[in-house]
Amino acid sequence: MSIENPILRIEGRIAEIGPGMKIARMIPNRFQRTIGAWCFLDHAGPVNFAEGSGMHVHPHPHIGLQTFTWMIEGQVRHIDSLGNSQMIYPNQVNLMTAGKGISHAEVSPTDKASTLHAAQLWIALEDSHRHMDPQFQNYPDLPTVETECFQATVLVGSCLGVTSPVSVFTPLVAVDLVAKQTSTFELELDPSFEYGITLLEGEATVDGESLETGTLLYFATGNKNVTISCHAATRILMIGGEPFKEDILLWWNFVARTQAEMEQARSDWAMESPLFGVITDPIAGPRLDAPSLEGLHLKSGSRTN
Ligand code: MN
Repeated sequence: MSIENPILRIEGRIAEIGPGMKIARMIPNRFQRTIGAWCFLDHAGPVNFAEGSGMHVHPHPHIGLQTFTWMIEGQVRHIDSLGNSQMIYPNQVNLMTAGKGISHAEVSPTDKASTLHAAQLWIALEDSHRHMDPQFQNYPDLPTVETECFQATVLVGSCLGVTSPVSVFTPLVAVDLVAKQTSTFELELDPSFEYGITLLEGEATVDGESLETGTLLYFATGNKNVTISCHAATRILMIGGEPFKEDILLWWNFVARTQAEMEQARSDWAMESPLFGVITDPIAGPRLDAPSLEGLHLKSGSRTN
């Protein structure tokens, strides 16, 4: 770590996205709107649900992005307008490519008490891919690397000599690192990537900076490696990518380029346009309404929920 490349410490904002469902939102934030094409990072839980309760996100639309879920503990069913109904289990990734438009719901089973712990991210699609047809994929098997110090699961891109099958369109990486005990190790970085590192559980120091849950450490491009010390059983999420070259707007569940596109997407959802399809499974529940356009400012990176 050189003096020209100080580590930026970003405190996540705590939000409640449903009853008992607390998340720490790390990006976007006022310092860093994106890390590579990663344009949204929520650390959800761990939260304990009693029998009869759970996460229930009703049908809502997306454009211009991929939604990416890394499940650590618990189960959530993804239901979308393409007809997919997919339960995601721990150590799996769900990837939904919204492209020109899709809608989905996320519902956790409520037949017994459960714990939910996940990372939910969005990936901005560049102009050449943001109008593509939507698609959805569940990835039950991600490559892992076991060392004396940690077990790494490569969620996106390549790291530690293995490559994830998860399909993305710009140079990106995401790695889940689990250390069972106190350990210190060095990870090689790609100097053309910027990185964000957050703590999912445990206690760690990264290049001498302490890392807490709900905090993101940002590393600009130009770094060749990072030293991670785990002071207990610890779980870390590292994301990175080549800085995104296009200016994006984020509003509600949409990633676009202009205010007019946002207004069009909002109107298409309100008018039940075929663009977003139809979710037929009754367990998904009623459609969510878009917030009022008053929350839509041309300021890049703004988001109202
Ligand atoms: Mn969604």
